[in-house]
Amino acid sequence: MTIYNFNAGPSALPQEVIEKAQKSLFNFENSGLSVMEMSHRSPMYEEIHFGAISSIKEILNIPDDFEILLLQGGASMQFAMLPMNFLQSEQSAAYVLSGSWSEKALKEAGRIGDAYVLSSSKEDNYKSIPTIEFDSVKENTSYIHLTSNNTIFGTQWQELPEKQRTPIFVDASSDIFSKRINWNNVDVLYAGAQKNAGPSGVTVVIMRKTLLEQSNTSIPQILTYNTHAKADSLYHTPPTGSIYVLGLVMNWIKENGGIEGMESRASNKAALLYDVIDNSNQFYVGHALVNSRSLMNVTFRLSDENLEKKFLQEAKEFGFEGVKGHRSVGGCRASIYNAVPVDHVEKLAHFMKEFQNSH
Ligand SMILES: *Cc1c(COP(=O)(O)O)cnc(C)c1O
Repeated sequence: MTIYNFNAGPSALPQEVIEKAQKSLFNFENSGLSVMEMSHRSPMYEEIHFGAISSIKEILNIPDDFEILLLQGGASMQFAMLPMNFLQSEQSAAYVLSGSWSEKALKEAGRIGDAYVLSSSKEDNYKSIPTIEFDSVKENTSYIHLTSNNTIFGTQWQELPEKQRTPIFVDASSDIFSKRINWNNVDVLYAGAQKNAGPSGVTVVIMRKTLLEQSNTSIPQILTYNTHAKADSLYHTPPTGSIYVLGLVMNWIKENGGIEGMESRASNKAALLYDVIDNSNQFYVGHALVNSRSLMNVTFRLSDENLEKKFLQEAKEFGFEGVKGHRSVGGCRASIYNAVPVDHVEKLAHFMKEFQNSH
């Protein structure tokens, strides 16, 4: 049976990447070695490592004054590392709450120092993206943290806010590589790879170099960005296999129109599903407000709870994987990251229409 993968993360990889990885992950360019068996200090691995980093730079058009790091520990590790490095005594950190992940980021920061909520859309059950009142930023705020795409609630910043004085740190775990980034408005952007960039195990952290000089030097070395920056993310053994596959995904993006290609793919795919929802006469009800809708995670409910169960059951039987919403919010969610082919989304849209017609 064909499986149509709408998992929220880890999620679909491009078919071409899976095929290439099948051949070369276990016998890299006919060297007789699998990528996972190579020394991370070997020229062969260095090619993979620096190739992946330069592809990231090229695709996202990252200026030279940013460092690109490949770290471990997932986005969740960044929830802790960012305040450990940049939230020092006498300082505060501002958090914009737009969903569960930003709540988690805030909690971690609160264990390190003074972290406060700058704005929040919690009251409307995270249906929308909150607006930022820059006038409410406290003095000595070392950064403003926000989540560009809310994987669980299905909302997304249509444009990142215009940066004022305070540095902006962005958790882009679920929409990195799906749209262009204006680096004037960003100081740190990070993402666990397993949604839109490759397999789990590697985390991309893109950081303005001037920040490195301001970071806390009294924490363990392994947790400081400087350590990893100075060693080109080879301070200790990197997740070599994950980085290799991430590099393959980057090549796939380049071969498929680059970041502009990903942008138009994303809006075309999302439109297919939102059109079904909007034309369903409230049979399907979207969670996100229209102007906050995510192009990556489409969240919706069926107006009737029993029908929703039936819908999810039949979707599963049909081969649609991962359409059940996150356990914390319920309902349905289709994650349509870069690697999800357009025709899979068309199939789901068709299925939704048919399901409505027959009920
Ligand atoms: C999945 C996700 C995380 C958590 O990522 P891990 O790599 O599992 O730590 C954090 N933020 C967002 C927005 C996510 O989608």
